[in-house]
Amino acid sequence: MSPVPSPSTMRDSFLVFGAPAIGDAEIAEVVASLKSGWLGTGRKVAQFERDFLAYKRASHAIAVSSCTAALRLSLLAAGIGPGDEVITTALTFCATVNAIIHAGATPVLVDVDPATMNLDVEQAAARVTSKTRAILPVHFAGRPCNMEALMALAERRGLKLIEDCAHAIEAEFQGRPTGTFGEFGCFSFYVTKNITTGEGGMVLTRRAEDADRIKVLALHGMSQDAWKRFGDEGYTHYHVVAAGFKFNMMDLQAAIGIHQLRRIEPMWAQRQEIWRRYQDAFDGWPLTAPAEPEPDTRHAYHLYTVLIDEARSGISRDAFLNAMTARQIGVGVHYLSLPEHPYYQQAFGWKPEDYPHATRIGRQTVSLPLSPKLTDQDVKDVIAAVQQVLHRVPERAGAALRKPGEPS
Ligand SMILES: *Cc1c(COP(=O)(O)O)cnc(C)c1O
Repeated sequence: MSPVPSPSTMRDSFLVFGAPAIGDAEIAEVVASLKSGWLGTGRKVAQFERDFLAYKRASHAIAVSSCTAALRLSLLAAGIGPGDEVITTALTFCATVNAIIHAGATPVLVDVDPATMNLDVEQAAARVTSKTRAILPVHFAGRPCNMEALMALAERRGLKLIEDCAHAIEAEFQGRPTGTFGEFGCFSFYVTKNITTGEGGMVLTRRAEDADRIKVLALHGMSQDAWKRFGDEGYTHYHVVAAGFKFNMMDLQAAIGIHQLRRIEPMWAQRQEIWRRYQDAFDGWPLTAPAEPEPDTRHAYHLYTVLIDEARSGISRDAFLNAMTARQIGVGVHYLSLPEHPYYQQAFGWKPEDYPHATRIGRQTVSLPLSPKLTDQDVKDVIAAVQQVLHRVPERAGAALRKPGEPS
């Protein structure tokens, strides 16, 4: 007799967190690129830039190798360097703040609003000094920041605005697309993001001079003519006009991005539906579900995050992560707050207790799978697993599933 009755919620395969939905069109375009012999930066990158520009209703777009590169180049083009301070949020991926550090500037953190998990604009205003040159907000989980308040602050204090839109390709604030408010908008096409090119990023900018400078800096600092080497208009000499970087996107990557972008809206609608199903399913359960999207905004539904407060949920966050994994559901943590990491503590003296909301969220947060690749059954499995872990019922199945040492 089998001692372990298989609970109905137990999947037979692991549900990978953040798996991208890659279609046949992407695969065919990559194969066509490979067969054409043109793998590097060329026509497909130019097309992806044009398509992205049209989607975002922006002025200039430069495709790069990552959002990290996009942030790095934007800070440089904004003229930010040693002696300057840049204000950003305590609750973000390390790349946001590393880009500021690599620019030679000093990052200044502010805590988040506990409901929106976006940078608290009033606290940002309070941290502005004579050295502050820019604000770098992150549209966390795909929820747009209050750009009206941020624009007003930037204008009042003469600051540049650089938007980290890694979570927020489809987001809008008062009908205007994210990444078009500030001088620069930076996007990510990393595998787990809303659309992917494997690795990749994009900068949106309003001014042609900034676009030209970023383009040059993204390719070794070689003059614009260098890009014509990729065309068939005959040989062109290039000149190095700056000490640039190797941050260009390849046609192989753009081949994926072009087709991902064509499906961006149906994929957004699928994630919205899953997000809504989770909201309905967890209503009344002992966890904190995300706030509803604010009126007159468009949420990009990049992450669905719940907070697990041990006192209320009856299980610690880390035990919850393990219990979900034991039930074959891949989960994520976005993010431990920046002041929790030893490097930043040592370099800047940041203390978690100075950012209480970001710290608490970082210690309680769990991201559930939210991808257009999820089937109806996958979503049901996620919901059932969460309810089972929180309910600690059915007892027998729960006991059988629990790993030795895992809290009950
Ligand atoms: C993913 C991410 C980045 C970095 O994007 P890459 O394309 O991987 O460099 C930056 N900021 C935030 C908030 C992110 O989630």
